[in-house]
Amino acid sequence: MLKPYAVNEQNSRGRVHAEAQPIERSEFQRDRDRIVHSTAFRRLEYKTQVFVNHEGDLFRTRLTHSIEVAQIARSIARALNVNEDLVEAVALAHDLGHTPFGHAGQDALNDCMKQLAPSSGGFEHNLQSLRTVDLLEENYGAFDGLNLTFETREGILKHCSQEHARRLGEVGRRFLEDRRPSLEAQICNLADEIAYNHHDVDDGLRSGLLAMEQLDDVAAFSRHRLAVAGEFPGIAGRRLIHETLRCMINALAVDLINETRRRIAAAAPAGLEDIHAAPQLVSFSDGMRSEQRALKTFLYENLYRHYQVLRMTNKARTIVSDLFSAFMNDPRLLPPQYLRMAEPERQGAEPDPKARAVADYIAGMTDRYAIREHRRLFAIGEI
Ligand code: MG
Repeated sequence: MLKPYAVNEQNSRGRVHAEAQPIERSEFQRDRDRIVHSTAFRRLEYKTQVFVNHEGDLFRTRLTHSIEVAQIARSIARALNVNEDLVEAVALAHDLGHTPFGHAGQDALNDCMKQLAPSSGGFEHNLQSLRTVDLLEENYGAFDGLNLTFETREGILKHCSQEHARRLGEVGRRFLEDRRPSLEAQICNLADEIAYNHHDVDDGLRSGLLAMEQLDDVAAFSRHRLAVAGEFPGIAGRRLIHETLRCMINALAVDLINETRRRIAAAAPAGLEDIHAAPQLVSFSDGMRSEQRALKTFLYENLYRHYQVLRMTNKARTIVSDLFSAFMNDPRLLPPQYLRMAEPERQGAEPDPKARAVADYIAGMTDRYAIREHRRLFAIGEI
């Protein structure tokens, strides 16, 4: 029932290491299952989305975020008759390379790499997600990593500099040739956006860092809130927030499906090749896109730059850069398996194997592990 331009087992480019066909499940289900059983996936539970994990039990973590992305992406994929299993695999894996402490952790690690290891090419969570599934997971007898299909790996690699793309080989090639990934990958990318715009509003309101009135001028939210208040007179509090946000997600998903159908009809792709050659086909309508942009700006100014969030950001920066400097100055402080990862022969084409191994170690940490590791290294009297 899949469209001819969807990814399927026949047009898949397969795995780097040849394996016997899975029994009673598809290749893409197998990818999804390997991701769910990985160590990096379990760590998502204790990694910050916006709020540090221990700040409250009800805020999104990287894990619940990834599950929400998978839910939204699967709904869209099913409506468009493309590969739902692939979409689920990509969605569940898309944030595996995230550092502790959310974007603050990533920015700090990137700055450290650029300053102390200029040849390393820096740190980018997207590339790190691919590194995690290609190299860092140690679960299988025949290979490092999870040996996922090309299409799942392609979906994980959302963006990539030309410099990195050249080093990555086939999976980086589309960035050099200006080609698009599968519709399934494009869907995950926008499902990610739908998920975080919606849940950051939810968590922002729940935490008290945002107040409902602040959102009056943000049409993406307020027009649904007015509709909900009209339908349920007197509705307030959590119910009002949830009803409003569920209408917002629904409107976004429906808009995306309709606009994408329209673009697919216009491009009339015959097969997967045509999707790679076409301009981006998965898209919101122009009106919805500008509404979302306004919401993003609002969140940036009022939530991500809120002084209480910035205090956490500041702490995260200190923890990450202290750890990075300590390990770079004396790699013998690394746990033995990461010290071995710093050996040049283990790092292939990496220009700075030591820095990359340190970045791998720090990126893999959960929030609380990073805090504990910092204490173990720097607090006198701690062991
Ligand atoms: Mg994400």
